[in-house]
Amino acid sequence: MLDEYVRSFQTGALAAHKDGSRHWIKNKGPSVETYIGFIETYRDPTGMRAEWEGFAAMVNGPMSEKFGRLVAAAEKILPRLPWPEAYEKDRFLKPDFTSLDVLAFAGSGVPAGINIPNYDEIRQEEGFKNVSLGNVITAAYTASVLPFLGPEDAELMRQYRTQAFEVQVGLHELFGHGSGKLFAKDKDGKLNFDEKTVKHAETGEPITSFYTPGETYDGVFTDLGSAYEECRAECVGLYLSLDDEVMELFDCRGDTGRLVTYVNWVDNLWDGFAKCLEQYDAAARKFMQAHSRARYVILRVLLEHGDGVVSIEERQDADGRPDLLLTVCRDKIHTAGKKAIGDFLTRLQVYKATADVAAARAMFDHYSEVPDSGLHPFAKWIPIILEKKQPRRFLVQAHTELKGDDVLLRQYESTPEGLIQSFVDRFPDPAIEDRLLELHQKDAKHFP
Ligand SMILES: [Zn+2]
Repeated sequence: MLDEYVRSFQTGALAAHKDGSRHWIKNKGPSVETYIGFIETYRDPTGMRAEWEGFAAMVNGPMSEKFGRLVAAAEKILPRLPWPEAYEKDRFLKPDFTSLDVLAFAGSGVPAGINIPNYDEIRQEEGFKNVSLGNVITAAYTASVLPFLGPEDAELMRQYRTQAFEVQVGLHELFGHGSGKLFAKDKDGKLNFDEKTVKHAETGEPITSFYTPGETYDGVFTDLGSAYEECRAECVGLYLSLDDEVMELFDCRGDTGRLVTYVNWVDNLWDGFAKCLEQYDAAARKFMQAHSRARYVILRVLLEHGDGVVSIEERQDADGRPDLLLTVCRDKIHTAGKKAIGDFLTRLQVYKATADVAAARAMFDHYSEVPDSGLHPFAKWIPIILEKKQPRRFLVQAHTELKGDDVLLRQYESTPEGLIQSFVDRFPDPAIEDRLLELHQKDAKHFP
C-alpha cells in the first residue's frame, strides 16, 4: 500500500493510488487506521479536483460493535429500501465498518464519516471501508444555540442529537453509499441485468440506458455526481431511521427510539435550512458544498411532497426583529414523510442506475432552486439566516509525544490561545517559524 502511494505521489500516477487503495481495503479491522492522498472533491466547484488530506485514527471498540451488528444485518435491511430488487447490487460487499476516534486529521475540514476509496469502480467491484469518526460527532454537537427551532424541538435536539447523528452517519455510509446497482454493459456486450424482466421503475418501459464499458458514475455524472450521491445517502439514512428494527441495532428502542428518529429528521431539515443556506453563493446561484446542496434538496422535496411534514414560517424574535420558525410534524414522518422520501429516493437510484444524467440533472436542479418569491422565498430569508449565524467553533487537534516508552496525549482548549499553542508545540523548531513567515508573506497578496 505504502509503496504504491509513494509511487503515486512521486510520479502523479493515479493508477498507483488506486492500487494502493486496493491494498488498503484488504487490511480489515486494524486498530490504527490511516489513509492519505487527494481524496474528496467537495470543494472544487466543478467537482473534479480532489483536495489533499491524510489522517491517523484509532478504533473505538464499543461503537464498532454496533456498526458490526449493522453490517451483519445488511442482507435483511437492504431489501427494505424503496427501489425494486433488481436495482440493488447482486452481492452486497460486506465492508469493514469501524468507528474511529481521530488523532490527527489533516485537511480543510474534519468529516464525521467517510466511505472510501472514492473510486466508484473499486467500491462497486472490490469493496470499500466505512469509517465513522466518533469523537468528531461528539465534538461538533456540544454547540449551544439552535436558531429557528421551537423550544421543545431545541431541547430534544440537545438531548438526542448525538445519538441521532450516530444513526444517520451509520446508515448514510453503509446503506447509503454502499447500496444500489449500476446497470452496465461489459466489453463482450453482456448486460449485468435481465433486459426482458427488468423495467424502468418510473416509466415501466424497458431499460434503454446504462453504463458502457469504461464509463463510471463519476465520469457520467461529473459536477453533479458528488451532491447527488450525498443526497441519495442522506435520504437512505432518513428513510431507514423510520424502521424500528433498524433503530434497535443502535440500541434505540421504544419511545426513546422514536424520539431519536424524530430528532434525526429535525436535525437534517434544520441543517438543510439554517446551515446549508449559509453555504449558498447568491451571486453565483450555487451551493459551495455538496452536502449543503444535498440537504437543501431534501428540505425542498419534503416541503413540496411531504403533505406538511415540515413547514417554515416567518415570525419575530424577542427583540421584534425578523425571525423564522421551522417545524416538523411528528405524526407525519412515518406516513407522508416516508412516502415522499421513498419516492424521491427511488428516482435518485433509478437515474443513477441507468446513467440517466439528463433526467437526474433536471430533477436535482429543480429542487436546488433558491426562489425569492412564493410560499418559501428562501433567497429573501438568507439575510435573516446569516444574521443569526453562530460563530464557528474551533477544532484544535491533540498531539502525541514520546516520553521514553510512553506516549503522552496533549490536548488543548478550544480557544484562539489553544489553537496557537498547539501550533507552537507542533513546530518547535524556530527555523520552521521563519519558513512559515516566508510562506505567509508570499501568499499575503492573495488576502488583501
Ligand atoms: Zn456521504
